[in-house]
Amino acid sequence: METALVKKIFDVDQVRKDFPILSREVNGKPLVYFDNAATSQKPLSVINALDNYYKTCNSNIHRGVYLISAEASEAYDKAKDKVKEFIGAKDSSEIIFTRGTTEAINLAAYSYGRQSVTEGDEVIISTMEHHSNIVPWQVLCDEKKAKLKIIPITDSGEIIMDEYKKMLNEKVKLVSICHISNSIGTINPVKEIIKLAHEKNIPILVDGAQAVHHTKVDVQSLDADFYAFSAHKMYGPMGIGVLYGKAELLEQMPPYQTGGDMISSVSFEKTDYNEIPMKFEAGTPNVEGAIGLTEAIDYINSIGRDQIHEHEKEILEYATEEIEQIESVKIIGTARNKTGSLSFIVEGLSALDIGIMLDTFGVAVRTGHHCTEPLMRRFKIPGTVRASFAMYNTKEEIDVFTSALRKSINILK
Ligand code: PMP
Repeated sequence: METALVKKIFDVDQVRKDFPILSREVNGKPLVYFDNAATSQKPLSVINALDNYYKTCNSNIHRGVYLISAEASEAYDKAKDKVKEFIGAKDSSEIIFTRGTTEAINLAAYSYGRQSVTEGDEVIISTMEHHSNIVPWQVLCDEKKAKLKIIPITDSGEIIMDEYKKMLNEKVKLVSICHISNSIGTINPVKEIIKLAHEKNIPILVDGAQAVHHTKVDVQSLDADFYAFSAHKMYGPMGIGVLYGKAELLEQMPPYQTGGDMISSVSFEKTDYNEIPMKFEAGTPNVEGAIGLTEAIDYINSIGRDQIHEHEKEILEYATEEIEQIESVKIIGTARNKTGSLSFIVEGLSALDIGIMLDTFGVAVRTGHHCTEPLMRRFKIPGTVRASFAMYNTKEEIDVFTSALRKSINILK
């Protein structure tokens, strides 16, 4: 548990020691890992927890009558309590484990969406959404002959709130919006966005894939109806994520997938469904993932989300100042409230060439549209170079990156 009263000391060198991969070299240079928005690296505690699970209690969970199955079941169920605390949910029955954010949003679109959206209705998303928060709603709207409405953004990459307000009407059945943009780092005013939707009785899903590890999230204080995120972006393993949903909504929703575990009884005539959240978890779940996620949350809590946020803010500000000094670099996304990602283009050069060149200096960045093609179109560019940061990144790494960027530009021009 994080304690508000005890100000923890953040020691980045100490943190780095917890991440074994950070000490490796690539292309003869120390790895500078700036692709954290795609996936974060894992601390030893998470790696060891996965190892330990397979060495000591690997077994299928629930209904096992023997000790190691009971241990695995307990670890899986405790992971729900851990997530509940981490995001401030009211009850662990509101925590559904999915494969990740993508599956979480698909679950909501499939189950809640297909139940609530009918012909002529509207679903609202924003210009800066990840494809995972576009396509499920697009498919739903096509199927139901409903309309997908897009909130416009400013040139700096902020939601235009006045336009959003105008879009809220009785035809809107759901708003789905990212908390933090993976491409340009904008932190959206989700509390205000949710409040405005609720004034019109419209439920809202928040895509928190880029938020839970960068900033404190309390779903009750936000009053989010759904909140989705992935473990692998928050120092946990791949293949597990979360859909939080308010119990009263989940109770009303039909199952997303069917099969084992999501039932309470089956006959050839009729199936009764399990209670929430099991109603939404068909088949053998990702037990190792749940254990790894528990460990990742413990790790984040041991450092402190406020400390992480402060450190990452400093890193982003420093990186922004440094690359602003490089002629021909243009930053894409200059919102007042930003974290995590720094996107830029270099006049006359392709993002891909820069990314490949940076790799020769040991710097790992991502290039392209970052699964936000409509956002790139809004800025009239094919893509960007994106450096995205985590708690273990340092100012020294920014110096390596900016020096490598200067050299890359000189070589390529
Ligand atoms: N939404 C956002 C904002 C993301 O950054 C990502 C991952 N890049 C996703 C959704 C999809 O997450 P996943 O691939 O883990 O399902």
